[in-house]
Amino acid sequence: MQARLTGPASIHLKESYPMSENPKNTIPQCSSCGSENVLFDAYVAWDETTQTYEIVNVFDKGHYCQDCDGECSIDWEESD
Ligand SMILES: [Zn+2]
Repeated sequence: MQARLTGPASIHLKESYPMSENPKNTIPQCSSCGSENVLFDAYVAWDETTQTYEIVNVFDKGHYCQDCDGECSIDWEESD
């Protein structure tokens, strides 16, 4: 399951993360409970041309697990 934002809140992935470092398909998981319901702490900027948010930077810390209901660390798991 993947949460999707619609309308002006839809985020255009300008730079895939962390795909640029790892060519395999990866899934972010909560390091505590293994849930994929995780949110990233990031800066986004408004792009006037595309009328979407562009991700400027995804931080290393401060991610949020919706299952733990709190801050978490991310483990990147390979998917097939
Ligand atoms: Zn969790």
